[in-house]
Amino acid sequence: MTKNIAENIHHIKQRILNTAKKCHRDPNQITLLAVSKTKSAQQINEAIQTGQYQFGENYVKEGIEKIHYFREHLQNMSLIWHFIGPLQSNKTRLVAENFDWIHTLDRFKIAERLSGQRPKALSPLNGLIQINISHETTKSGIHPEALFDLAEKINALPNLTLRGIMAIPAAGMNEKVQKQEYNEMFSLYSQLKQQYPQVDTLSLGMSNDMEVAIAAGSTLIRIGIAIFGTRNQRE
Ligand SMILES: *Cc1c(COP(=O)(O)O)cnc(C)c1O
Repeated sequence: MTKNIAENIHHIKQRILNTAKKCHRDPNQITLLAVSKTKSAQQINEAIQTGQYQFGENYVKEGIEKIHYFREHLQNMSLIWHFIGPLQSNKTRLVAENFDWIHTLDRFKIAERLSGQRPKALSPLNGLIQINISHETTKSGIHPEALFDLAEKINALPNLTLRGIMAIPAAGMNEKVQKQEYNEMFSLYSQLKQQYPQVDTLSLGMSNDMEVAIAAGSTLIRIGIAIFGTRNQRE
């Protein structure tokens, strides 16, 4: 059922190049994150063979099993693991000790715990603040007006580096609203970047909206289905 993962990655890279060209952006400024939730180490390995080294996971336990597996089997290959799911405070230690990035910061308490629990031997955890750009009541993320307060507090944490913002826009909105929201994300990102020079990441765009996101200025697209096929059931 899943098409060849290598072929899919090749195709996504082509889409990145084409879109970048159309909107006069440097394609090297757009990072492809392969979202591997529910996928096996074997499938991730197929992606690694193509030179894909950055992976996104949504569930702490499942992600850590894969991280440990690849640490054992590919000691010399430095994979970069992004935690992109909602995080409860009782699981912060596992993320602090194993992941390289977290995309879903929306409470100072969680950020503070992550910084405190980050092992000294590792470089600081890279963090993105999640913005609830579509103002959905059920979604995680902060409202745009709250960004600069939270950013100031997070920026002061010693073992967490604020790298930018991320959003999961509501599905199925009309094109005009969609563009507005993506442009609003870019504007927040640009303001944040002016204030904090280390900010360099706007995490926006998935399989269905990657072109719109790149046109709006995304620097990191999170692609699952278009690489690995439809998701497996979680056990
Ligand atoms: C699952 C997921 C993705 C990937 O979405 P696709 O539609 O499979 O490309 C991206 N970002 C987040 C936060 C996700 O949970």
